[in-house]
Amino acid sequence: MQTLRDIKEYITYKAVPDCVSIINKKLPNFKLAVLKFDDASDRRSHRGGMYSKGPGINLATSLLKHWMDKQGIARFYEYPAFDEDTVIGGAYIAEGKIAIDIITAHEIAHAAQHYVYKLLNTRCKPHGPLWRDIYTTVRTEFVNGQLGDQAKLKQIYEKRLKEIKQELLARVGKE
Ligand SMILES: [Zn+2]
Repeated sequence: MQTLRDIKEYITYKAVPDCVSIINKKLPNFKLAVLKFDDASDRRSHRGGMYSKGPGINLATSLLKHWMDKQGIARFYEYPAFDEDTVIGGAYIAEGKIAIDIITAHEIAHAAQHYVYKLLNTRCKPHGPLWRDIYTTVRTEFVNGQLGDQAKLKQIYEKRLKEIKQELLARVGKE
């Protein structure tokens, strides 16, 4: 996946259908009615929720591209309240594609949550128990098998961070 077009095609024809079929095991009639990509360069967040046509997600293209362009190991952060969680938390990722999968899973879980809200005429918090339950399933079945040895990735990531810091300090010292 190199170009924006590749990323959008991957999400549309692979990531979304995979996530939806995992959710369908618990919610058989759930469908994603809206899949939008926002190409505005200043868009800084994704959205998953209910649209007039039904449950949907809207992904910020610039952020997707940001992850695809990353070189080496990166740390993907989830919301602070659950970033440390070993199932639904942030992760060290060896390739940008995994970040795309996490983002898609996270937002589809919001879309499914709003679908359940409507179905049961209820509501809870945006990252509350209902969302966490759906997200846990999608993370486990769609994303987490790709994460690899997190302790090892963390070690490599921190070593590289230290090297970058030393390189910067060395440069500052020379000027
Ligand atoms: Zn969220």
